[in-house]
Amino acid sequence: GTLRMLDSNEVRRRKLDLFVYILTEGPVKERHSENLELMRDLLLPVNPETQSCNNIEEVIEFCNQWENHKDALPYEIDGVVVKVDEIQLQKKLGFTAKSPRWATAVKFSAEQAVSILRSIEIGVGRSGVLTPVALVDPVELNGTLVSRATLHNYDQVGRLNLHLGDSITLEKGGEIIPKIVTRELSSQTSWQICPPQNCPVCDFPVFQVPGEVDWRCNNFDCPAQLNERLLHFVSRRAMDIDTVGPALIEQLTLKHKLCNPADLYKLQISDLEELERMGAKSAENVLKAIKESKNCSLVQFIHALGIPHVGEKTASVLARMHGSLQDLMECTPETLEGIDEIGPIIAESVVVFFDNQKNVKWISDLLEIGVQPRNPETSSNSGIPFFEGKVFVITGTLSEARDVWKDRLESVGAKVTGSVSSKTDYLLAGENAGAKLSKARTLGVQVMTEKQASEELS
Ligand SMILES: [Zn+2]
Repeated sequence: GTLRMLDSNEVRRRKLDLFVYILTEGPVKERHSENLELMRDLLLPVNPETQSCNNIEEVIEFCNQWENHKDALPYEIDGVVVKVDEIQLQKKLGFTAKSPRWATAVKFSAEQAVSILRSIEIGVGRSGVLTPVALVDPVELNGTLVSRATLHNYDQVGRLNLHLGDSITLEKGGEIIPKIVTRELSSQTSWQICPPQNCPVCDFPVFQVPGEVDWRCNNFDCPAQLNERLLHFVSRRAMDIDTVGPALIEQLTLKHKLCNPADLYKLQISDLEELERMGAKSAENVLKAIKESKNCSLVQFIHALGIPHVGEKTASVLARMHGSLQDLMECTPETLEGIDEIGPIIAESVVVFFDNQKNVKWISDLLEIGVQPRNPETSSNSGIPFFEGKVFVITGTLSEARDVWKDRLESVGAKVTGSVSSKTDYLLAGENAGAKLSKARTLGVQVMTEKQASEELS
């Protein structure tokens, strides 16, 4: 957040510092610990407390030791990251959709503090969801003064039976803002906390979707939602326009230069130059990055639309199954629910999103301006008849990560599912295959070894 600020004096004032922690390219050694040594020799700032452990007991010992001595450090930590040292093993372990399998964070148990709940502030998110934030009497927690705490939603408020004036326990989890975990004592003159009747930003009536816990502001033009929607649109995993940050978006929406994502592409250099602390060079860079984002993938584009319940992974499923934006926009609940990974809530959300003419309008504006999402390569281009339309399940230990095999099979037209059923055509079984292998045998599903699969692929 600090690095994205337009005010370089403010950035300097915050005195940022860093430890480098990984070497990914260049003269990479065989072990992570050797890479760290190398970077130390190059006088790069590497954390001096890192340690190679020979077994899990030493790892546990190291974590315990730092949990007890973390206050001795000149900065705050909330845990320790444990990594596989051998780079070859790291490669073998690979990544899940979200994180590497060869590194894991060991979190210290959270510290708690007691305070008084004074009032509630309501945040409005990108899809209009209202999030209550508790304002509490300032109290010290993990060495910082805390005066705000998340409450997640109004169901949570009800579960904790919170009232204004209550004495509450705060805990700092993995997030920056702590949360309220329990109510200690109720106050004598307590006020019940209810969802508001109107949006605190635009005053539109709020409503609760049946079956959902969240209360929402349903005004598409709500300024709070607009800012959040634009921020999501430019974010790294969406359109990846890294020169556009929160400060810039806020200034532009205030001046009504940005009313929807399509307006980004209509910005002129003069719109930017008149903003605070925006030089000609920065303005040029902003416009250049916006222009470059026109050439994005369909997955990025679908993710950037900000359809409720559609994250990056679902965006990728939708892109793969529909092949083009046009197809996706014409989808029906039935076509969507035919897709394994899409449940009724996502299906409903996608259909409602494309039914909204305001959404259709700015999406067609984007296309007209020249944003051209690249369609994913369809399997028919590279499909192998043997695999086309076949349903695979993968189990056991393979020589490569399962995700690698999944991608490989899908790229030649097969479908990979999670559990063996009568619809399964083949079970790709590695070593130590267990329950899935016995089930496949019971159901008469063909079992294939890694070697056999590789032969069919070649
Ligand atoms: Zn609103």
